[in-house]
Amino acid sequence: MFNLILFGPPGTGKGTQAVKIAEKYGWVHVSTGDILRSEVSQGTPLGLKVKAVMEAGQLVSDELLIEIMESVFGKNMGAKGFVLDGFPRTLKQAEELDDMLKKFGEKISSVLSLKVDEEELVKRLLKRAQDQGRKDDTEEVIKNRLLQYHQHTKPLIDYYEKKKLFQEVIGVGGIEDIFNTLCSVINDKL
Ligand code: AMP
Repeated sequence: MFNLILFGPPGTGKGTQAVKIAEKYGWVHVSTGDILRSEVSQGTPLGLKVKAVMEAGQLVSDELLIEIMESVFGKNMGAKGFVLDGFPRTLKQAEELDDMLKKFGEKISSVLSLKVDEEELVKRLLKRAQDQGRKDDTEEVIKNRLLQYHQHTKPLIDYYEKKKLFQEVIGVGGIEDIFNTLCSVINDKL
């Protein structure tokens, strides 16, 4: 199994690339943001619990995310691989992820981070707000989401660098160019 984490702040294009990678390699794409948004739109008890937190650009609790991921792994352990998009986002989630995978005799294979400067990120997020009408893409909330990234998620770089799993890839340019770069990095690791 190949277990890839696509890492980086919101707006780097992780989601777009994760879909393409999953399709090319036949891996399961797991976007925790998509899973949570679907719970919210269906009005499930979990959705009702996380709606306000997501709309404010805050992080949903580690406990809920870990529960969600346990269920995802439980249902898909026959898969050839996973592309994780938006998870883990805290040190606690990263540690729990390692434990979860260990239970299945698995581990993280690679962590690839798309590098985009912050000004460009805000521009992209505001454009996405207009195009998709996402409630968490207003300027105020975008600032909060980037703050959450810097406070809680960025420290994971160190965690994965120590494990020699972390690698940065330029996230600026055409979608296909970025995809080709990601694929060549992945192919070297297969
Ligand atoms: P995303 O689409 O990945 O940017 O996620 C949208 C929102 O879902 C985030 O701003 C968080 O509120 C919530 N979320 C998604 N993944 C996580 C996670 N791993 N930990 C905590 N909250 C998350």
